[in-house]
Order: sequence, then C-alpha cells, then structure tokens
Amino acid sequence: GDLLLKVRDLEVAFSSRKGGKKAVVKAVNGVSFDVRKGETLGLVGESGCGKTTLGRALLRLTPVPVKGEIWYDGEAIDTIGNRDFRSLRSQMQMIFQDPFSSLNPRMTIGQMLNEVLSVHKVVPRKDAKKKIYELLDIVGLSNDYFNRYPHEFSGGQRQRIGIARALAVNPKVIICDEPVSALDVSIQSQIINLLKDLQTEFGLTYLFIAHDLSVVEYISDRVAVMYLGKIVEVADSDELYRNPKHPYTKALMSAIPLPELSRKKERILLKGDLPGPLDMPSGCSFHPRCPEVMERCRSVEPMLKPLCDDGRHQVSCLLYE
Ligand code: SF4
Repeated sequence: GDLLLKVRDLEVAFSSRKGGKKAVVKAVNGVSFDVRKGETLGLVGESGCGKTTLGRALLRLTPVPVKGEIWYDGEAIDTIGNRDFRSLRSQMQMIFQDPFSSLNPRMTIGQMLNEVLSVHKVVPRKDAKKKIYELLDIVGLSNDYFNRYPHEFSGGQRQRIGIARALAVNPKVIICDEPVSALDVSIQSQIINLLKDLQTEFGLTYLFIAHDLSVVEYISDRVAVMYLGKIVEVADSDELYRNPKHPYTKALMSAIPLPELSRKKERILLKGDLPGPLDMPSGCSFHPRCPEVMERCRSVEPMLKPLCDDGRHQVSCLLYE
C-alpha cells in the first residue's frame, strides 16, 4: 500500500517519583496515526506534549520499552528483535534540534561521514571519499568542509552536516525533531527549503516535529496536533489551518503571528498552564483550559474520530461526538 508508517495505540510510560510516591507518567498515551510514502506529516504541540518522545519511540531511542503497534512498509516492527531492528535503522533516520550536540567535536566532517558509511557498509571503502563529496554537495556545502571540525561551522551549516549524515545511509523516512528551532529565521527557511528539495529528489518521507506552526504549515502535507500525550486533531495541512476544530488547535492557530485575512485575528488565550504529567485531568485532559468546556468534558474522555466520511480530518472533542 502507500502507507510507510502505521502506528497504533503507542504508549510510552515513565515511572516518576513525587513526594516519595511512585507514579507512572504516560508521555505518549495511546497514539495512532499513519504516514504515507513521500509525504510530510507535521507533529505539533507545546513542549512537554510528548511529540519528541513519540519520534524517539519509533526508533527505539527511548530509555523504556514502548507499547503498541508500529508497522513499517507493511511489516510489524514493534515485535522484531533488536538485531533485525538495527538493520532496518538505516532506512529510518533522525535529525535533531541541536546538530552540535549530535556531532562528535573531535572528528572532522570527513571522518564522521566516513564512519557512518563504513558502519552501514554503504559503499566500498575506496569510494567513500567520492560519496562524502557527493553528500556535501547535496546539502549545499563545498568539498573543503571535509577536513574541518563541527565547531568551525554556523548552526545552519551544522544542520546541513546533520542532514548529510542522515542521508548517507539512503534512508526512506527521516524523523525531523525541531530541526530548525535553534536557528535564525533566515537560516530556518534555507534548511526547510533544502529538506523540501531533498524530499522531492530522493522520495523521502518525513515526520516533522516542531512547535512552530508557521514552519510546520510550510513543509507539511498533513498535520497532527498533540496535547498531553495524545493526538487531539489531524487533518490535511490546508484544512487544519483554515478550519481547525479542536478548541486547543483553534487557540494555537489564533496565536500565529501573521494572521491572514482568512484567519480569525482574535487571539484565544488559554487559562492556566499545561498540567504536570502527574496531575492528568479527568475526562478530556484539555478541560481545565478549554474555552468551550461543557459539564460532561470533566468525566467523559473523547476519542479521535473522523469528522466526515473520507476520514481525513479527525478530531478528539465531545463537541463533535
Ligand atoms: Fe473542550 Fe470538552 Fe472538547 Fe475537551 S471535549 S476540547 S473540554 S469541548
């Protein structure tokens, strides 16, 4: 089929201590979604909503085991052993927010890329240098970066190296975790445009995690909104930004700085702060902050359901049940 990733009821729970009591914190709390081949699914939400944990869980990068089903290209991969998973890992790569922290400061760019190529046996050793020059060229860096160290680069250049490293192993999916949020705005658009070009050139599929809604709108075909470990709304990008349904999505949209005519300019302010993970509200977990809260929201938990028959726009809110 055209699905590359299919995720069902994903759950990542950490145990935590508060006042001497042990408690379980569900950073990701029963999340289901699909990512189609060649598309970009944006994943947005405030920090602490679980989006980064979700991205890491797909690659088994969380310190705790993950519950739920993960299908990759038609194959259930949540059940396979670590060894088989490792061989799959070259097809699923990740780009991180801070490229510097993920680059070894003591290795030149050439050494680092060479290591990636040899660990994954991408090309015969004699062809490695040529391949590295190719990779540098693909991400818009000249050959003389080969012998330089990460600290000699700007943030944008480091992110280009991060992208080159991810691309080195010919991945099919790239999980982009806040890849531009540490960069200046002008550099952000260069990196986003680079990611878009690479997607077209190599047929890549992206899961694009970010808190900046304008960036996500620009790059995503579809967008999922997360709140306290759950997806509360998902739709095609145009539809979600033009016609948000969930009160939380509406509030997020109303806070986007440059309102277009089609968008409501009035800013919806949410009451209170994001509840701590140990104080998970009953019923709809958004109810303490929801401007449209109803009595039953305090006790009934809404489910993510399609708004109309084609199922492309889904929302988890009792207003639509
Ligand atoms: Fe608001 Fe109720 Fe909908 Fe939750 S279910 S988002 S509290 S209206």
